Amino acid sequence: MTNKQVLVAGASVAGNTVAWWLARYGFAVTVVERAASFRDGGQNVDVRGVARQVLRRMGLEQAALALHTGERGTDWVDERDQVLARFAVEDIGAEGPTAELEIMRGDMARLIYEPARAHATYRFGDSIAAVAQDAAGALVTFASGQQARYDLVVVAEGVGSATRELLFAGENRPRYLDLTLAFFDIPQQAGDSEFARQYNTVGGRGVTLKPGRDGRLHVYIGVHKRAAGENKWDEARQKQFICEQFAHDGWEIPRILEGLAATDNFYFDVFRQVRLPRWATGRVVLTGDAAWCPTGLSGVGTSLAIAGGYVLAGELAKTDDYPAAFAAYERVMRPFVQEGQSFPKPFIRLLWPHTRLGLWLLRGAMRLAGRPTLRKLFAKLYLRDSNKIALPDYPVVTAPPRA
Ligand SMILES: Cc1cc2nc3c(=O)[nH]c(=O)nc-3n(C[C@H](O)[C@H](O)[C@H](O)COP(=O)(O)OP(=O)(O)OC[C@H]3O[C@@H](n4cnc5c(N)ncnc54)[C@H](O)[C@@H]3O)c2cc1C
Repeated sequence: MTNKQVLVAGASVAGNTVAWWLARYGFAVTVVERAASFRDGGQNVDVRGVARQVLRRMGLEQAALALHTGERGTDWVDERDQVLARFAVEDIGAEGPTAELEIMRGDMARLIYEPARAHATYRFGDSIAAVAQDAAGALVTFASGQQARYDLVVVAEGVGSATRELLFAGENRPRYLDLTLAFFDIPQQAGDSEFARQYNTVGGRGVTLKPGRDGRLHVYIGVHKRAAGENKWDEARQKQFICEQFAHDGWEIPRILEGLAATDNFYFDVFRQVRLPRWATGRVVLTGDAAWCPTGLSGVGTSLAIAGGYVLAGELAKTDDYPAAFAAYERVMRPFVQEGQSFPKPFIRLLWPHTRLGLWLLRGAMRLAGRPTLRKLFAKLYLRDSNKIALPDYPVVTAPPRA
């Protein structure tokens, strides 16, 4: 398939990774991104297990480690900010609530985007409106009205992918995790911990505060509740929703809500897994969150996106038979995706208690889980296995950068 024309939709972690590898294998790659320019924002994401290996193979692992947020571990705290349980990276290693490679989403996406754009053509401010497939290829009509033919189309548009809804209509059976969360950052203050702090209170409400090296404190804040379409609201309404949920709370909440009003780096989601029986239809294939979003709770969403991009490109580089390549990609990735999506719902309820009794039980459980003998067991329960699959080897990368 090398030398063939491939369109990638979405210029975030998954889209840039697949573009990077496809271009190196000699495919002619165009990336179309809906946003008017490259999207830098977002908060901390983890890169774990096989995704670290992919970055190593791209020669980007050291650069990624240099962008590490500096987070030393995770503390569960109460309203007086007393530590109930500590999971330090130095005690439990990479497979704890804090990954060895914690990095800002924008830094991770840009780290791959910069070398990828030397090899691929990027078009911002446009998106796919229609795809018509025939034996010779896929005719893509863009929202701008332009048309172009491609041999293959890779959809890496994230959890809410419109092209997935267009071409796989009715196939996604989302699994809602009953969590609605906002992500943003606020100014750091003297005395802020180098550990992430996890705070829960009654009403299914919780907050994670994560330190950064950028003078910012990164906030995840939200509530355990049935989804009610909040992801479709505009940003002002989403911010208002969070303010109303936490209006009367203590701890760090007043400072967080003040920062929320001022932030322009705001991401909001109703946690829902994307579950599809297939990831390809004809010449169109899905990857990253568009194919299998495991949600931020899994700790492996970004790792899956990186691994998926590598495997998809590698399988396409091996053969001219694209249906066989798509099938092989799915065979390799499915077990990792299933692992990433396997977070048990009762565990979520336990971690986001509604009642005083539930909160008391959670705090008791965390005190136990933080004991040296139980820390690793808790981490195993809490985390998905980021080394679930053996990473295949693919052909040696050859193609030079495009002019
Ligand atoms: C701005 C931003 C901030 C984020 N912040 C966080 C965070 O704080 N915490 C967290 O856990 N996860 C966050 N995420 C999600 C996280 O990046 C993903 O869960 C994970 O890295 C997998 O990445 P992905 O490339 O599959 O999807 P995403 O990172 O969601 O990227 C999808 C890309 O496709 C683009 N796109 C969407 N629709 C179209 C379309 N129709 N045509 C063309 N392009 C399209 C989007 O603009 C985006 O660039 C954020 C994503 C974005 C885009």
